[in-house]
Amino acid sequence: MPELPEVETIRARLAPRLEGRTIEHVEISDPRLTRPEPPEAIAAELEGERITAVGRRGKYLILGFESGRHLLVHLRMTGTVEHPALGGFAADPYRRAVVRLDDGSDVAYRDVRRFGTWALLEPGELADYFAARRLGGEPLERGFTTRTLSRALAGRRAPIKAALLDQRAAAGVGNIYADEALWRARIHPLRPAGSLEEDDIARLRKAIRAALELGISRQGATLRDYRDPDGRRGRMQREFTVYGRAGEPCPRCGTPIEKTRAGGRGTWYCPQCQRLHPG
Ligand SMILES: [Zn+2]
Repeated sequence: MPELPEVETIRARLAPRLEGRTIEHVEISDPRLTRPEPPEAIAAELEGERITAVGRRGKYLILGFESGRHLLVHLRMTGTVEHPALGGFAADPYRRAVVRLDDGSDVAYRDVRRFGTWALLEPGELADYFAARRLGGEPLERGFTTRTLSRALAGRRAPIKAALLDQRAAAGVGNIYADEALWRARIHPLRPAGSLEEDDIARLRKAIRAALELGISRQGATLRDYRDPDGRRGRMQREFTVYGRAGEPCPRCGTPIEKTRAGGRGTWYCPQCQRLHPG
């Protein structure tokens, strides 16, 4: 569930607190988190690492270490990272790992559904790791142009919504921000990705950026589990134009929002603003 804006919110909160710190102790209580590696082995490898950068790529949170290694954290459905400014943690059956830093503070990883993953990469392995997963460009960076988006969608018969979800066209866009971006761009979610014209793609590029930037400015969307490292909810859910709003009026034209499915996911759109056969 956490998408680019949620992960970016977590990254921005953690960076000033973690950068420069050394990991003193790690406890990983869920073997699923590090599989196929045993959790004790990963915990032992992390101890003594000094954190030099807290980055993000798509929906991955990346801890960069002085050694050149990286820890890639993917929150999947329900993962959250906790770093309370004051005091320790309350008892929590969903806490899967705790990292003790050299300033005495603890960073905890919580995950109700347990789909989240931690992968420890050796120096130089990062680019290959993302290439193997065919991870697309960063939509908020300069390299995300109409041309690159157009190239990523060319010839694809999948619905544009599904194409956005698979991360190859733009890293970090998930179910919420795909629907919000398609509404902004006035593109029907079931249109074949390869059928989009250049002006559709130009609007879509802008719309993806605008939807993600709004999400970041609202510290992400909290529907159920998402919290920032201080335990605070996001506010983006108050700004949804179509996502989860079936039957409610489109904020642009007043037509009731409809729900369909694309890429196996619930998908919301305005049947008036987003025509399947435009023109
Ligand atoms: Zn509308």
